[in-house]
Amino acid sequence: MPQILSGKEVSLSLNEQIAARVAAGKAKTGMVPHLVAILVGNDGASQTYVGAKEKACQTVGFDSSILRYDASISQDELLAEIERINQDDTYTGLIVQLPLPNHIDEEVVTHAIHPDKDVDGFHDINMGKLAKGHPGVKPATPYGITLMLKHYGIETQGKHVVVLGRSNIVGRPMSLLLSDSSETGNATVTLCHSRTRDLASYTRQADILVVALGKPEFVGADLVKPGAVVIDVGTTRVEDTSRERGWRLTGDVLYSEVAEVASAITPVPGGVGPMTISGLMMNTLQAFERKYA
Ligand code: NAP
Repeated sequence: MPQILSGKEVSLSLNEQIAARVAAGKAKTGMVPHLVAILVGNDGASQTYVGAKEKACQTVGFDSSILRYDASISQDELLAEIERINQDDTYTGLIVQLPLPNHIDEEVVTHAIHPDKDVDGFHDINMGKLAKGHPGVKPATPYGITLMLKHYGIETQGKHVVVLGRSNIVGRPMSLLLSDSSETGNATVTLCHSRTRDLASYTRQADILVVALGKPEFVGADLVKPGAVVIDVGTTRVEDTSRERGWRLTGDVLYSEVAEVASAITPVPGGVGPMTISGLMMNTLQAFERKYA
């Protein structure tokens, strides 16, 4: 049986470390980090994600606020709200839960957040720092994955990592972090996408395979080298009439098959999801410490 890489367990351990640093910061400054989440409209998944982030803030001792806006809010009104939060020193970090309604340009909104408060790490300035290997805010999901690899002592140096998916929030920054000259980097990284020819010829060479496609159960055992570490980022709601809510969360990896060949694997749920929140909490803590330490 493979080692199960439990994001749930790692995040509990990280929460303790974060809470201790929050307490130390409070003793020194009288303040704690404050994370603001902007939620536009009534998307069910978005409400769940924002609720989980608020709960995590409570666990580690951050202040948190959820600012809810009707889906009809104009882009200019939303930008004005972001600017108000940018200017307010009581707020440490700001996230805008995506997706946004079609009439709002997500790129424009992402770039309106001050880079120092961009604790999701999506702003061009933070992505640019990441690309150059300079210190900055790292995108929360790939950062959370590196925290998980570190927790389990999974060596990346000199390993061949194959990342499936080149999105700006997961695949591309993941490839940058793992190839960076750092404790959780120094890997040789291959980044694959929908135009990659003969995908299996790459994935079967991977010591560590990170899958971020949004294609439920796409990766079977035939795509995995025996003994590989498999990180499944995918979370798609698929219909499941046996559940009261009518759906279940499914990863991009066919777990039952791949668990037979991998040396370590993340479950879905309970794998990368909690690590994304840990990455966000860590980014918010670091933003606070940079300002007040
Ligand atoms: P995305 O923006 O849709 O990107 C998907 C990537 O997969 C694209 O780069 C696409 O290639 C590539 N791709 C699609 N089909 C492919 C194929 N057949 N072969 C090779 N590459 C293929 O998705 P995302 O935002 O990165 O999210 C990916 C998944 O992770 C989703 O299920 C999402 O819900 C999940 N996610 C989970 C967390 C978490 O905390 N657990 C966080 C973020 C995202 P092209 O660029 O060529 O189109």
